[in-house]
Amino acid sequence: MANNEQTFIMIKPDGVARGLVGEVIKRFEQKGYYLRALKMMNVPKELAEEHYVDLSSKPFYKGLVNYIVSGPVVATVWEGKGVVVTGRKLVGATNPLASEPGSIRGDFCIDVGRNVIHGSDAVESAKREIGLWFPEGLADNKPELKWVYES
Ligand code: UDP
Ligand code: MG
Repeated sequence: MANNEQTFIMIKPDGVARGLVGEVIKRFEQKGYYLRALKMMNVPKELAEEHYVDLSSKPFYKGLVNYIVSGPVVATVWEGKGVVVTGRKLVGATNPLASEPGSIRGDFCIDVGRNVIHGSDAVESAKREIGLWFPEGLADNKPELKWVYES
């Protein structure tokens, strides 16, 4: 399994407003994942629509887009072995009432429409989302990871 798998994690407007940015970063960092990119930004409506294009026929789509554009988000890229699947576990189930305690959603929110954080659901969608949110590309870096990986 590749040590350089990447996922897109976004702290949504409610997470930023509630001061949960550090908490999210802490949890991914302490697991051993590597922060490859981070930026705070207001989200253009077209970007929110494109990010969630697969959900465009859902009844909650309009409200979801309005939620994502309602305040600044923090967009991040994390790297490491199994980061997509394990990142989803750190994030927790979509509906926070069903998210396990110990996950971010399980610990910090209640409503599905205010669930604090986004995480890519597959390696392919992570690639698409990273391209969408970081069209400028990621900074070159080679982290020293010998204390995280055996090889
Ligand atoms: N969402 C919602 N109502 C629903 C289902 C989803 O408002 O009934 C929102 C919720 O914020 C969720 C986002 O739409 O995080 C994307 O939905 P998805 O099924 O992709 O869940 P996720 O991948 O974020 O767990
Ligand atoms: Mg999703």
